[in-house]
Amino acid sequence: MTASASQAPPSPDPLRSPLLDMQDIQISFGGVPALRGANLSVAAGEVHALIGQNGAGKSTMIKILTGAYRRTGGSVRFEGREIDFRSPKAAREAGISTIYQEINLVPFRSVAENIFLGREPRRFGLIDWRTVQRRAAELLESFGLQVDVKKPAGSYSTAIQQMVALARAVSADAKMVIMDESTSSLDEREVELLFTVVRKLRDDGRAVIFVSHRLDELYALCDRVTVMRDGQTVAQSTMADMDKRQLVTTMLGRTLAAVVEGDTAEREVHLARRGEAAISVRKVGARPLVNDVSLDVHRGEAVGLAGLLGSGRTETMRLMFGADPLERGTVEIGGETVALKSPQDAIARGLAYLTEDRKGDGIVPELSVRDNLTLVCLRTLAKHGIVDRKQQQAIVERFVASLGIKLRSPDQPIRELSGGNQQKVLLARWLAAQPTLLLLDEPTRGIDVGAKADVAKIVRDLRDAGLAVLLSASELEELTAVADRAVVIRDGRTVAELNGAAMSETAIMDAIAWGSEGQSALAEAVDAAHPEDSRHGS
Ligand code: ADP
Ligand code: MG
Repeated sequence: MTASASQAPPSPDPLRSPLLDMQDIQISFGGVPALRGANLSVAAGEVHALIGQNGAGKSTMIKILTGAYRRTGGSVRFEGREIDFRSPKAAREAGISTIYQEINLVPFRSVAENIFLGREPRRFGLIDWRTVQRRAAELLESFGLQVDVKKPAGSYSTAIQQMVALARAVSADAKMVIMDESTSSLDEREVELLFTVVRKLRDDGRAVIFVSHRLDELYALCDRVTVMRDGQTVAQSTMADMDKRQLVTTMLGRTLAAVVEGDTAEREVHLARRGEAAISVRKVGARPLVNDVSLDVHRGEAVGLAGLLGSGRTETMRLMFGADPLERGTVEIGGETVALKSPQDAIARGLAYLTEDRKGDGIVPELSVRDNLTLVCLRTLAKHGIVDRKQQQAIVERFVASLGIKLRSPDQPIRELSGGNQQKVLLARWLAAQPTLLLLDEPTRGIDVGAKADVAKIVRDLRDAGLAVLLSASELEELTAVADRAVVIRDGRTVAELNGAAMSETAIMDAIAWGSEGQSALAEAVDAAHPEDSRHGS
């Protein structure tokens, strides 16, 4: 900004002297820029939402602020002074407390000890335990909480533990409290309780940075918002000046005019031709993330499961696959109500589930491509515990050819393959088990553009071959390119079903933003859309 303040346009930022001012922050990992000029300004006495898609750079921004990472460019001012914390401890001592989802309490120590750990009041050089306990109890009472502060912190729920962490921040007189996705594992009642405490911190004049993907939470709690995308800050605004649709479109980086629609006519043809329902999910729920989800997937169709991160997509798929127990609702597979006890049960009924976490629960890095590929079908290949090598080789060759997997040799460890080729091997692993229903969670995440196109084509071919496919993708463009229709979930509830020509990125974003507002009983709406299963086709 130039010297002449009178000529400068009015600042869009209502903050004259923010508590925290991060400007033009830069950092790279292994030569890849993660932050490319990101800004964040937060005032005392506000709850500030920091939002953006997975990988946008929110946590990196926070880690730079708290001294966990060192920035390579940009400036950070806290209380008007340029700062560069060398460690999280230095940040804490300057008054910045961070509360992560995995809470950093010592579980076997008492609640009281955790609140004052390292800062215990002393008398004659000795820790004054009675005062520790009294002050801890008083603090939690001021939050409206009655807990036995002598009990181990680990004996309480995540929600209570978070409040203990907040009490710790207050007792340390933190000026700023950062909550990075700390509500994602809480249920609605616990979130409400936590919000009461957060509002109290704000009213005491502290600043709170709140990272969450749940839109309703943001509007219920936050005063202002910073939106990040691809390592940059793309919007800063008051919550009141940004409606949900603007928030979602800014986050996803799509202007509505630029939205390209898929081939709607083709979708209608697929839907008209689809076969019977391979799976019918009705009003299922399981705490904390799935509240009320209903959906069907028919043979010969690809259904997109849309929703923001944290909306319950993965958890819904896990319920469908028997990986988590169902608390409410019913699942029908092939017209029969089933109670899946395990993924093995689901596999036996023709289900396959490609998880979003390729590295965590997908590949076995040290095993060969061959062994990775045949991991699921191995049981049928093994007679009397002995694997039929010839048959195994034939399966591997068939899928390497049909999916275009690029490798040196099937004996090569899978970790040596590119992400896209690893993903194809995992897909082949499931296809080799000859499933009727494929659950694909973010099948194109983290793979290069060419591999993305390949995977999309494979999925379309499988659908055309009569498989039932349910797939999630955070990129709506990728979802609408493959799916014939979309089921939108928000906060663990089915809020819309958009079929064929009615499915567009705009319509999905509207559903994500507005959900079922104005609509009631949406499970009924889903039921009404399927008065009876169509039995034609295949
Ligand atoms: P968000 O919290 O918004 O989901 P992150 O800040 O975690 O996003 O990540 C932003 C980008 O920085 C991602 O591309 C991520 O892969 C990368 N990144 C973050 N931390 C590291 C790290 N320690 N090493 C390599 N890459 C990282
Ligand atoms: Mg993060």
